[in-house]
Amino acid sequence: MRTYEVSVVTPDGPVYSSEVEMVIAKTKGGELGILYGHIPLVAPLEVGAVQFKNGEKTDLVAVSEGILEVRPEQVTILAQAAETPEQIDIRRAEEAKRRAESRLKSSQDDIDFKRAELALKRAMTRIDVYKHHS
Ligand code: ATP
Repeated sequence: MRTYEVSVVTPDGPVYSSEVEMVIAKTKGGELGILYGHIPLVAPLEVGAVQFKNGEKTDLVAVSEGILEVRPEQVTILAQAAETPEQIDIRRAEEAKRRAESRLKSSQDDIDFKRAELALKRAMTRIDVYKHHS
């Protein structure tokens, strides 16, 4: 399969870049599998693990909410935060997960609940991505 360039960029700088055959990412409208030559689009991303596939190899990157930009020969992800498995501090993610879970049990209003739910999603995504690698 033909390969194309991908990059994941955050406000702190570039996090990941590679040549891949396919990107699999969860947008707010559903999961997308993007091959070379895909029609251009811009879509908001869910918090989750984005998969980058090339042959037998799959790299995972944990991505907080962001934007997916697809062009026929290039995919760019602009995210608030993103980490490769090597960059993930697993203890920090596990602590964040525990904190979010206890907030979800005790949250008094919808805003707290939403915030805790998103924090839980970020933490679980980081734990998944870390485990995939180790
Ligand atoms: P925490 O409560 O542990 O801060 P968070 O989900 O609120 O987690 P974010 O606001 O998503 O954190 O990220 C803030 C910065 O910290 C980003 O640069 C992100 O890449 C980094 N970061 C957050 N959690 C981890 C982690 N477990 N390992 C490595 N970097 C992390």
